[in-house]
Amino acid sequence: MATFKEFRNNVKPNWCPGCGDFSIQAAIQRAAANVGLEPEDVAVISGIGCSGRISGYIHAYGFHGIHGRALPIAQGVKLANRELTVIASGGDGDGFAIGMGHTVHAIRRNLNITYIVMDNQIYGLTKGQTSPRSGEGFKTKSTPQGSIESTLSPLEIAMSAGATFVAQSFSSDLKGLTSLIEQGIQHDGFSLINVFSPCVTFNKVNTYDWFKENIVKLEDFPDYDPANRMMAMNKIMETEGMLTGLIYQDKSRRSYENHIPGFKDQALAKQNLDMTKEEFNQL
Ligand code: SF4
Ligand code: MG
Repeated sequence: MATFKEFRNNVKPNWCPGCGDFSIQAAIQRAAANVGLEPEDVAVISGIGCSGRISGYIHAYGFHGIHGRALPIAQGVKLANRELTVIASGGDGDGFAIGMGHTVHAIRRNLNITYIVMDNQIYGLTKGQTSPRSGEGFKTKSTPQGSIESTLSPLEIAMSAGATFVAQSFSSDLKGLTSLIEQGIQHDGFSLINVFSPCVTFNKVNTYDWFKENIVKLEDFPDYDPANRMMAMNKIMETEGMLTGLIYQDKSRRSYENHIPGFKDQALAKQNLDMTKEEFNQL
């Protein structure tokens, strides 16, 4: 059985020292090993942004896509080979701005994919512009007078789109994040895991200390029930989206793949492999 070290490759990440993305990479590698996967069982599909580089830093199948398009590619990979564990990943700009249309519909579609968003509340790769996750009044080169737009709540959007698995974590909590990724991988359906991942170079507001002061841990609420949709919605609103832990899980709804007759037993890629070239061309 593979250890997390076998999910490492020899590419050195060029993230800034202290960037939260390092821990998220480590958590994905640990979670994959902990649930018994081998590198050849996993595909990591990413979008564009500092976080998008992650597909090149993990020893597994990988695809570094284009801006905001990690999810369409990830869904295609999953439909072509349902035996792969597909992890999509990208930043808040990637998934909640240009890619938001895909995010909402991927949530509705409920394919068995784990989507990990590295949420630093800014555009890091392009040197620090306001993102949909930046707070009101947030000053950057793109909003020098302070952002006048409201801050987008991915958790509320995911819940209203019919998500079957919603979680949030903090890059500093390696143990908790690893556990949530394991649960997301094992969930039969689409799992959204939003991870606060400080950008130490450009975001001087939402720092490690800021997150430590503002995060509300669900583990401090022993009566919290992640199967209760109304409770999840209320808690997200009460905490203004700052809660961490497993927020919601619906185990009753079947994943998209399980609605396709015959697909459960044989991946499309395998079906096509058995075809002659002439049969394939007639598809
Ligand atoms: Fe991380 Fe920010 Fe540096 Fe990008 S610019 S690698 S998000 S710290
Ligand atoms: Mg970002």
